[in-house]
Amino acid sequence: MTVLHMTNRIQNIMVLLACLCLILSMFLAAEAADFEHLRAEMVRSQIADRGVKDPRVLAAMKQVPRHLFVPEALRSLAYTDNALPLAEGQTISQPYIVAVMSEALALKPDDRVLEIGTGSGYQAAVLAQLTKEVYTIEIIEPLAKQATESLRMLGYKNVYVRLGDGYQGWPQEAPFDAILVTCAPTKVPRPLEEQLREGGRMVIPVGESWVQELVVLTKRNGRLERQEIIPVRFVPMVDAKGRKY
Ligand code: SAH
Repeated sequence: MTVLHMTNRIQNIMVLLACLCLILSMFLAAEAADFEHLRAEMVRSQIADRGVKDPRVLAAMKQVPRHLFVPEALRSLAYTDNALPLAEGQTISQPYIVAVMSEALALKPDDRVLEIGTGSGYQAAVLAQLTKEVYTIEIIEPLAKQATESLRMLGYKNVYVRLGDGYQGWPQEAPFDAILVTCAPTKVPRPLEEQLREGGRMVIPVGESWVQELVVLTKRNGRLERQEIIPVRFVPMVDAKGRKY
């Protein structure tokens, strides 16, 4: 084989590789555009049409790519009106519930918020669009690791993930302007109550396994005012041994 033939062959291979790269990037761009379209539709039909009004929450829900927080095999279902299974028997909440809880917190851009139950990291990402700092605690190690990785890949620098028992809160960073709990205890944990600042809000599902009430608690004069919003179904809050709180 002559040198000229070799050069032609290398050139052909290079052209072929460039074409493959182009096709792949076109495919990925088309997929991203499809997901963006599905997301906009989700926000309109599942969230805004059902009464969520806060424009900042609607914008955040349009922004965060939920498909990148669900297991790969379930990506095509990411924008449907459902909670979806995560690893370790846990679930990522239904988009509507994520929006309702985010709106109920009435967050301001400078707030520091604590989330209990990181799960996939999706809710934390939505909160990160709305506030300055998000502290989130997950009790199952593989979930905490995966969520940290997903949030890092998407470039979130204002979310701090910690492995631990969220019942105890995060005393070193308290007080918080807002606290969101995404697993359900039977009573409001005392440490969380103490770590909420005066005037702050806590949104928390409270009740027995699988039937709870989503409650908004506002701290006024050191006491919690209680308002119930809707019945919900979250996984129970558990301790390190898996016992329900
Ligand atoms: N917010 C999550 C969904 C939460 S599912 C998301 O957006 O994907 C509830 C999560 O709470 C589960 O991952 C579960 O492991 C976690 N959890 C249960 N008890 C906990 C506790 N005591 N402290 C921290 N996390 C807890």
